[in-house]
Formats: sequence, C-alpha cells, structure tokens
Amino acid sequence: MSVPRPAGPGPTSAQLPVPGDSHRADRLRELDRRHVWHPYAALPPAMAPLLVDSAAGVRLRLADGRELVDGMSSWWAAVHGYRHPVLDAAVTDQLGRMAHVMFGGLTHEPAVRLAQTLVEITPPGLEHVFLCDSGSVSVEVAIKMGLQYQLGQGRPGRRKLATWRGGYHGDTFHPMSVCDPEGGMHHLWRGVLPAQVFVPAPPGDFAAAPDERYLAELVDAVARHADEIAAVIVEPVVQGTGGMRFHHPAYLRALREATAAHDVLLIFDEIATGFGRTGAFFAAEHAGVTPDVLCLGKALTGGYLTLAAALCTPEVAAGISAGGVLAHGPTFMGNPLACAVANASIGLLRAAVPTVGSRPVAAWQVAVRRIEAGLRDGLAPVATLPGVRDVRVLGAIGVVQLDRPVDLAAATAAAVDAGVWLRPFRDLIYTMPPYPADDDDIARIARAMAAAAVAVPR
Ligand code: PMP
Repeated sequence: MSVPRPAGPGPTSAQLPVPGDSHRADRLRELDRRHVWHPYAALPPAMAPLLVDSAAGVRLRLADGRELVDGMSSWWAAVHGYRHPVLDAAVTDQLGRMAHVMFGGLTHEPAVRLAQTLVEITPPGLEHVFLCDSGSVSVEVAIKMGLQYQLGQGRPGRRKLATWRGGYHGDTFHPMSVCDPEGGMHHLWRGVLPAQVFVPAPPGDFAAAPDERYLAELVDAVARHADEIAAVIVEPVVQGTGGMRFHHPAYLRALREATAAHDVLLIFDEIATGFGRTGAFFAAEHAGVTPDVLCLGKALTGGYLTLAAALCTPEVAAGISAGGVLAHGPTFMGNPLACAVANASIGLLRAAVPTVGSRPVAAWQVAVRRIEAGLRDGLAPVATLPGVRDVRVLGAIGVVQLDRPVDLAAATAAAVDAGVWLRPFRDLIYTMPPYPADDDDIARIARAMAAAAVAVPR
C-alpha cells in the first residue's frame, strides 16, 4: 500500500548536523519529525518533542539552553537523577571488563551479585531471580511462570489470569490483556487479547478504612474462578499508568489469603512502585505479604539502562522445574552493564544516613519522606483551584486529577514555562521526582503542576 509522504524538505535538506553547525538543533528536530517514532504517537507526532542536550542532577538541559527540573524521573526510573558519579563510575568500570556476554551457559559477577541483593531486599521467601530486558518482558515471564507452574501441578485448565480494573502492566500482548480493558489504548485489542477475569478496581484511598464488601468480593472472585486462573496479577498500593490511584494494603492481604487457599499464584507488579517510591522500599511491605512472583524494573538500574527482573519462591521454581525448563531466554538477559549499575544504584539507596538523635536511616527513606512532605505542602493549594477534582500524595508521588481531560500541549507548555518537565495523561497531572530533588525543586514542581492545571481549558 502506498501512503503519501508527509510534506517537508527533501532528503538532502535535512542532513545530520556536523560539528559547529549552527542549525544543529533544527536539523535534529526535522530528522526526528521525519524518521523517529515516539511513544504513544502517530507519525508525524501531534506534538514535537523537546530536544535534550544533557542532564545532570535533577535537571534536563534543552538544546535551546533552558533547564527544566525533571518531575518525571524519566518515567519513574531515574531515582538518583542524572550523571550521578557513583552510577557513572559503575558503568565505566564494567565497560572496562565487558559490556555484554550471553547468559545461556555463562554467568558473571554483576548478575550474581544483583540476584543475591534482590533476594536479600525483597519480601522474605522470594529466592530465585530471572533477569530480563524490560518491565513488560518481566510481566510476560511472571505470567509464563504462573501458567507453567499450574501445568506442572497437572492443572492445564488454569490458563487465565485475574486482576482488578484500573491496572497497567505493559504494552506487549499478554501484559496488555491484564491492563484495564477500558483505559489507555488497549480497547483496540478487544477480540485479539486473551480474555481474562476482571474484578472492579480497588476503592481508591490508601488511608481510609478498607471496604468490607470489596474485600469479600475479592475473596469470592478468586474462589469462583480458581479452576480457570493460574494467577492473580496486581500493582500493589499504587495503580500507576492505569490512573494513578492508591488503595489500602488490606486488599493485598485478602488476595494473598484467597490465592494461597486455592493454589493460585499471586504476582505483584512493582515495576513502578519498587525502590522506595511509595514510602516503603517495596509496596508489598505496606501489606506485609510476599507474593509468589514479583516483577521489578524501571528504577532497578537508577534509570541508566533497561533491565527488569521476575523473582519467585522456591515452590514456584520447583513446580515449574518438575515439568521441565522455564521457556524464556532473552538475548540481553543479565546484561552486565545494567546489572553493575543496578548494584550501584541499590547501594546508594540503602546507604545509611546519620540523623540527629536517632538511628541511621536509609538514604532513600530520608529523601522520600522529605519529598512527601514537600509535595503535601506544595500541592495543598492546588486542591482549591477550579476544575481540580482531587489532589493526592503518597511517598514521592504527587497527583492532581482534573474534572476533564488534560490538554497535553497546553499543560506541558505551562509546566515548561514554570521550569519543570511533566508528562500529564488522561485527566492527570502527576510527578515522581528524582530523590535528590531539594525543597525548592519540589516547590517549583508543585507550582508547575498548578500552572499546568490552570492552563487546561475548561
Ligand atoms: N508494569 C508497570 C506497573 C508499569 O508502570 C510499566 C511501565 N510503565 C510496565 C509494567 C512496563 O514496563 P516497560 O515499559 O519497561 O516495558
């Protein structure tokens, strides 16, 4: 099929810039517009991306010289900000040994160390680590673990998954099948994706008393569907891309008991919530439960390189292995550069910070508490703005929900004018700042969120 080419200069007028080229930025923008597909975008994209030249600390430096405080941590990943000397050194040092080797038949210290550390820091009982390339792939692996586990138990009829509405687990096909069926873009795939079991979204409040009726509904749904589901998969405590909603940890405890009673696996997707973001190092800790499988990603490498992990218990591993091998093995599994920087990043988060008059506290905890207090202060006045439906803060996450969809161009421009990078979606303007963001940075982010809210036409 032939499609008309977008109008624009011919191939010779948009060449890659050479050193000293005064039109460098314009040329890059033009080439980007013509050739580069950006996330959740058409071609050419509705909104031109900003050209970033470099980033350091919590600031992005644009090609036009402007500096923006990063309110997004590069989609929850860059928890230490940018160009952290310890992380830079970890990558450089590992590069001097090897950038990559295949993981089939070979192993190496960065991966072994990382696996051992993850076992140590995740909820007790998770002992085996499958390293893979991205969050979506770790969800694929977790689902495969669930399905293979049930096959190994002689239950081939358990081929479905169950989840609650409002979730998000990635953009590859099986993860999409457990994303909210109405939200995002996944409605495009109705009839293509495997049909899963959905219960209503958890009532949205972290602190209010749990809803007894909903607790009973969860338990009942697991019991009713136990013969057809291999696993229940949820994001614990914070549903991220599905709507930035927080829920009470009691629902996770109910799921833990109900799934255990029927030997249905419980998968926690902590790709967004892991590494301190919600105020606990892992969101599962709010509930005090261990899932059978845990997915990690995003901040695992401090946002330096793509890496994810699916951890499981010895029971899951034994159940799968009794029937054969786990049928997965990505090319870049256990990439040494990514593992090395993940080890360094976790080391920084866990480093003890002496506090006056009390026991030392981990660095991540000091930072997240400070950011949480700053966001609560800074966003309180936003709740009274016209058109703001809700303001909520948990750990280092701040959310402003409007009563109408965000105009992405207007909201982004307002935030950029206020010196902050935000990426609103649906009716949500939200932030997950890098942990080194200081009080002034957080105050600036809150002001930019207010400006973005006001900029959305009513
Ligand atoms: N699960 C959750 C909870 C996520 O937030 C994301 C990414 N937004 C994913 C899975 C998918 O991760 P990735 O984009 O690395 O594939």
